[in-house]
Amino acid sequence: MVKMPARETASGLRAVARCDDLGVAPYSDSDDHLFRPYLGAGHAATLDRIAAWMTEAGMTARVDAAGNIVGRYEGRHPDAPALVIGSHVDSVRDGGRYDGMLGVMLGIETVAWFAERGHRFAFAIEVIGFGDEEGSRFPVSMLTTRAVAGVLGDQDLALVDAAGVGLAEALDGFGLDVTRFVDAVREREDVLAYVEAHIEQGPVLEAEGHALGVVSAIAAQYRFRAVVTGVAGHAGTMAMRLRHDALAAAAEMVLAVERIGGAGPEDLVATVGRMEVGPGVPNVVPGAVTFSIDIRAGVDAVRDRAAEAIQAVLPEIAARRGVGLDLTLQQDLPATPCDGSLSALMADAVSAVTGAAPRVLVSGAGHDAMVMARLAPVSMVFLRCRGGISHNPAEAVEVEDVQVALEAMTAFVSRFEQTGAGAGAALTQEER
Ligand SMILES: [Zn+2]
Repeated sequence: MVKMPARETASGLRAVARCDDLGVAPYSDSDDHLFRPYLGAGHAATLDRIAAWMTEAGMTARVDAAGNIVGRYEGRHPDAPALVIGSHVDSVRDGGRYDGMLGVMLGIETVAWFAERGHRFAFAIEVIGFGDEEGSRFPVSMLTTRAVAGVLGDQDLALVDAAGVGLAEALDGFGLDVTRFVDAVREREDVLAYVEAHIEQGPVLEAEGHALGVVSAIAAQYRFRAVVTGVAGHAGTMAMRLRHDALAAAAEMVLAVERIGGAGPEDLVATVGRMEVGPGVPNVVPGAVTFSIDIRAGVDAVRDRAAEAIQAVLPEIAARRGVGLDLTLQQDLPATPCDGSLSALMADAVSAVTGAAPRVLVSGAGHDAMVMARLAPVSMVFLRCRGGISHNPAEAVEVEDVQVALEAMTAFVSRFEQTGAGAGAALTQEER
């Protein structure tokens, strides 16, 4: 058996060290945990630092009209369309250091790798650190990604945070103007493709011994609200056979949701994550229960079949137990498939670097790529993270895995250069 040469880990180590550097104040708005909300002081300090690293890596750096940091490594010709590598720089409260940020650092390291070798492409490479993916400040998510993709909603510019500060005021404090927010939009012809590296935030890669995984799609999601109405009664005097216990009925429904979720393909998941019991006191038989149902799968049809099964079984349980049931659909997000040919390039790059067939998986969590898919073809690569833990300070990655991811990213860019899209960037330029 041929032994693989020891990997050069300097760049992977640097990417991890930089995420760690940015995990504490002044890059966090909290002194004792990482919280980097959109347009906070920590965000501002972080952008200064990232801009310096982008410049050092051979890029020009700017903050766009929505507060995203954008680094650009020019192609052989100015104004060439770009291959965009990105992820987000904001964090949830008490978040981990690698969620989002590691993808931005890998983008910078990818450019640095080519810049150090003096290699220019027919296309430009841009690295974007999105300011808001998590909904870290305002009660919506992917606000600044949607600005770039040109798919903002009517209400987005009127958003107010939990402290009563409006988007306009928050932008003003950041030196940005809300009336120019939409100017962050990019033209389709200027973005050839979008690539994102992100920690898996789940346990599959670690469990199966893979450093990397290629994402086939970002899951379709349904969210329902279920309201079960029984009859409240005295816990001491209401005979068991006469009860219409809303919570006992809801409990059976939760188990049905779990059973249906577990009966499908691996990427199908169904979760009851929230429940309110009324009146919620120890000596009263529960009269009303409200709970959430979250259903996700890599393709719409699988999600829809599970939803149909749940919508068929829950009313049967309600009827048998003599309780009322009201199911309301609250959120319907279709699946976002990653681009087939870009994913094939990514799979080829991953297997060239790891020496094994790539693990292909569905992302159950939403990512910037989901929104960027409205603007350009997208591809995503996942990195194994310890215990699958994320949105938690215990989030951790292995430097070796990050190095493998960097090699896969550079291998991907080299392959992209050989494709019609990569080579076509030059043709487009000459035709102008
Ligand atoms: Zn993330």
